[in-house]
Amino acid sequence: MSFESLGLSADLLRAVSDKGYSEPTPIQQQAIPLILEGRDLMGGAQTGTGKTAGFTLPLLQRLIENPHQGKGRRPVRALILTPTRELAAQVHESVQTYGRHLHLKSVVIFGGVSINPQKQKLIKGVDIVVATPGRLLDHVGQRSIDLSKVDILVLDEADRMLDMGFIHDIRKVLNIVPKQKQVLLFSATFSNDIKQLANGLMKDPALIEVARSNVATDTVKQVVHPVDKGRKRELLSALIGGNDWQQVLVFTRTKHGANRLSEQLGKDGITSAAIHGNKSQGARTRALADFKSGQIRVLVATDIAARGIDIDQLPHVVNFELPNVAEDYVHRIGRTGRAGNEGEAMSLVCVDELKLLKDIERLIKKDIPSITFEGYEPDPSIKPEPIQNGRGGQKRGTRRPSGTGRGKARSNPKGHRNRQKSSGNRSGNR
Ligand code: AMP
Repeated sequence: MSFESLGLSADLLRAVSDKGYSEPTPIQQQAIPLILEGRDLMGGAQTGTGKTAGFTLPLLQRLIENPHQGKGRRPVRALILTPTRELAAQVHESVQTYGRHLHLKSVVIFGGVSINPQKQKLIKGVDIVVATPGRLLDHVGQRSIDLSKVDILVLDEADRMLDMGFIHDIRKVLNIVPKQKQVLLFSATFSNDIKQLANGLMKDPALIEVARSNVATDTVKQVVHPVDKGRKRELLSALIGGNDWQQVLVFTRTKHGANRLSEQLGKDGITSAAIHGNKSQGARTRALADFKSGQIRVLVATDIAARGIDIDQLPHVVNFELPNVAEDYVHRIGRTGRAGNEGEAMSLVCVDELKLLKDIERLIKKDIPSITFEGYEPDPSIKPEPIQNGRGGQKRGTRRPSGTGRGKARSNPKGHRNRQKSSGNRSGNR
């Protein structure tokens, strides 16, 4: 199927071909015609599927097909809500990229930066606002934004917005925007909370779903490396150094863990930065820019900070620690292998995390191959302290001191992948 057959205008097709896309992704094939018809839509899709272009292209088209009539400041006609600043910035970048041959104006609004430049842009009049809920409501409170003419509302990563506690903010926004509007809701999962939100909000929505496991199973090569907790950092440095990886996104479970790992990598001579919710917006943007430009090799991130990070052809994702929630694993590895590019995701898994691994394998409906490096074999005498799964289990109790003092690190584990074990035993009785 071609982009031309989807009913998009010549200016949008030009922007798509400028970007180098030859074919619409499955979600784009399904979503674009429905949105152009004016239907409400519930899209089961996550980052990496092309969903941003899937809603941005038809949204832009609908705005140009129904131009703002009348004099005076142009009103906000499309509102896109996202859970994080990074995602807001990236969605806005897409709005600008795909709308580059159009004469629409847009602004991105998020917290952590001065509110005044955002106000200046709003005063001049914009057609499209991409925002995180909290800062948007600040503008509402200060009367610097008028949402009474919104025709299209997009809730991007709605499940994550609810996870992050934005439900009250979202409900406030819903009370402000007109009742009559087109609503597009995207979510990786459809929990009861999401369904409840959608029920009150949408009229006979079209449902489209891109199988969640596609990203995980098709384009990303996954592997588990069993290793003791206290030796993970050593193995990670050896992998990065030994394979000469230049761009690696590494996930930790906690902000503190991200900081500590980034510092330790620095001591190993590997340039890195940590991004997480406690970092200022400036620091996060800088770290991401340095990572994209190749000035730092490793970006250590927590799940929330990494949402929506969009780097074309990111080759390596490492789970330094498995996430507490199995769905987050799919989000994490969705950072690589995007839109058909080959990617590699590896997970350093210690004995405490075997239950989490099992949950992940159940979710993606396959066993992940397990490779133990010589010299890094887990010490069988270490007793597991299982990590609580689920979103409530972020905090841990007492921790065993790190470092098992076993063996000597090899500086280059490449070529030592000689002990391939089936994950069948480890996965137990499924
Ligand atoms: P998203 O799921 O919106 O985060 O998009 C994931 C990545 O796919 C982004 O890097 C997009 O630039 C890219 N992308 C979106 N649509 C296409 C397409 N039709 N062909 C190739 N790449 C695409």
